[in-house]
Amino acid sequence: MNFIVIFADDLGYGDLSSYGHPTIRTPHLDKMATEGQKWTNFYVGASVCTPSRAALLTGRLPIRNGMMGNKERVLFPDSMHGIPSEEITIAEQLKKVGYATACVGKWHLGHKEQCLPTNNGFDYYFGIPYSNDMSFSGEFSSAEERKDVLGGSKETKSEYFNVPLLRNEKILEQPADQTTITKRYTEEAVSYIKKNKAKPFFLYLAHNLPHIPLFASKDFLGKSDRGLYGDVVEEIDYGIGEIIKTLKEEGLAENTIVVFTSDNGPWLSFDEKGGSAGLLRAGKGTTWEGGMREPCIFWSPGNIAPGIIHDLGATMDLLPTFSAIANVPLPENRPLDGYDLSPTLFQQKASPRDHIYYYRSTELFAYREGPYKVHFVTQGAYGQFGGREEHRQPLLYNLNEDPSEKYNIADKHPEIIARLQARIQKDTLSIERGKDQLRDRSGK
Ligand code: MG
Repeated sequence: MNFIVIFADDLGYGDLSSYGHPTIRTPHLDKMATEGQKWTNFYVGASVCTPSRAALLTGRLPIRNGMMGNKERVLFPDSMHGIPSEEITIAEQLKKVGYATACVGKWHLGHKEQCLPTNNGFDYYFGIPYSNDMSFSGEFSSAEERKDVLGGSKETKSEYFNVPLLRNEKILEQPADQTTITKRYTEEAVSYIKKNKAKPFFLYLAHNLPHIPLFASKDFLGKSDRGLYGDVVEEIDYGIGEIIKTLKEEGLAENTIVVFTSDNGPWLSFDEKGGSAGLLRAGKGTTWEGGMREPCIFWSPGNIAPGIIHDLGATMDLLPTFSAIANVPLPENRPLDGYDLSPTLFQQKASPRDHIYYYRSTELFAYREGPYKVHFVTQGAYGQFGGREEHRQPLLYNLNEDPSEKYNIADKHPEIIARLQARIQKDTLSIERGKDQLRDRSGK
């Protein structure tokens, strides 16, 4: 079985037509959602890029895999470190049984040579190694100007952002031309599939967009009713259509699983230039649902049992799921935070996952078990949704009845809060041990 993971950047829960967006057209993803499984309670490991990507690729919470961030929550062009070499990525797992592996797109787990995809299990890399708004070549005179330039209400040009485009470890282009980046990532993905059709492969396609600043190629610019953000999402969707078409033409559709999701919620401080979390509260950077619940579609005709899945799932489940399907034993010398979802994917059995941790850097802010989510600390992000609040009496929401986290039911259900807290104390023991390991490692 081949695996393709398509990871959007900062696309929100409400940004696909099949997840309720009224004007963005995403026919290819919508068709995959109908033919495959559409998950409505699917989560990422953190609400910003670096830790979220590390969680997906290692099957571990960011506080265990060393990419949790502390002062800065994500890596920057002057960061010297990246994903620790002891971490085992999905690519390294699948290589144990002879998979060909490629990463196309945004990496953001370190851009020094030892941290690049080619030193973390991938045979091939083509992409921008961090966020597309980094390395701005000018200076912003104010926060307002930054917002105007990044958000595009002042003229924004791709060359303002001095980001490199790499092939393997070499810089091909700097600044990367972002107006054609989505198109080129799609072409790379299509050509990789054609070249590797004879052996099992894992392709991780992590688009840099729709992270701000937004760029679309000529064929898509000005086409969407949703404006530039819609143009960008529609170009990504078109590219996914090309990938599906290639899989069908090459006779690979029935032995390939395609997964689509996003790394974190929408960047709401950029107003209409950012995406939408739909009915979920807040967005990127927060531990409210809008920051960490994402659209997720699994597609593989004849394999994935079609339907809408309300059970819990997370990006950290992909490593154990792919390992089970490809028959690779899990790494034994470390705790994992993922579950094998294949019985749900293939037979619609209940998901083995019953809880979600919501961390901000190293601190546990919230926890979900079944329908209930308890918040111990809440904090907005990027100047929105308020400052840090520590809740002496935790907030409690029933997400099945109240997906927008509007109605705090803590007063009515102290016994549920007590039950969730007991469960966390049990689980965090092993997480604390993970933190000690990190401390040892960083002291080296
Ligand atoms: Mg992101």
